Amino acid sequence: MQCEGKIIKGIAGFYYVYVNGRGVVECKAKGLFRKQGVKPLVGDMVRLDAESGSITELLARKNSLIRPAVANIDQVLLVFAVKDPEPHLNLLDRFLVNMSKQGIRVIIVFNKTDLTEESDTALLRQIYEKAHYKVLTITAGKGEGREEVMELLAGKTTVLAGPSGVGKSTLMNLIEPDAGMETGSLSEKIKRGKNTTRHTELIHIAEDSYLLDTPGFSSLYIDSIEALELQDYYPEIKEHADSCRFAGCSHIKEPDCSVKKAVESGLIAKERYENYCRLYEEAATRKKY
Ligand code: ZN
Repeated sequence: MQCEGKIIKGIAGFYYVYVNGRGVVECKAKGLFRKQGVKPLVGDMVRLDAESGSITELLARKNSLIRPAVANIDQVLLVFAVKDPEPHLNLLDRFLVNMSKQGIRVIIVFNKTDLTEESDTALLRQIYEKAHYKVLTITAGKGEGREEVMELLAGKTTVLAGPSGVGKSTLMNLIEPDAGMETGSLSEKIKRGKNTTRHTELIHIAEDSYLLDTPGFSSLYIDSIEALELQDYYPEIKEHADSCRFAGCSHIKEPDCSVKKAVESGLIAKERYENYCRLYEEAATRKKY
């Protein structure tokens, strides 16, 4: 009996495929992919024979990321803490630019809202809502915001990302208590500095809903983006760019720049604009090889 499923894990030539109504099926690819010249990724949809555990077809991919190697992502849940650690907005913006370039939707989650004044959280929310991002504010440690998060995850394949220490594991445990053990032991191994192989693994959390946890990141380079291209990945800058006096306006020094006017009038958050200027400068002065 042929059916369809989603690859949730691949280890040593075996693929673990989640099939609705059946659960995880262990499959062997049997040279199929070598013949097709493709490498299946976690997240790929496949056609399989569940009785014999053989994958017969790799279905068309919607998108894929390289790091982590995962296919068919609907969205990224990007977690930052409002405090402890302080939110590093330049890092946050870099992440948004990277994902925007790859056409992947990001939802920003500000965690640990109990550690700061409500007005500070509101300010952060405002900065990113002005940039047309969906923003959630939660306190994962107290279970606050779970419902909202679950609603966003329903029916989607989501990557959970964010720097270390922002409470990603706490959120993961809140979403899927059973997966908590695994997450915990994995980060323990990393803490001990052992050379552990990390397997990219999707966790099935509800019908047609999958979540991929990723290791915390502390820096991000955006070395594949040209200075003038950068504005395309700032939704709110792109929105105002058409009415600038000069075509190809960089929105840095040009006169009659609608973007700068929008910053002055508060339509664009100055924190975002300042980070844009920094990233622009970085891209413009980067050595070309
Ligand atoms: Zn401009």
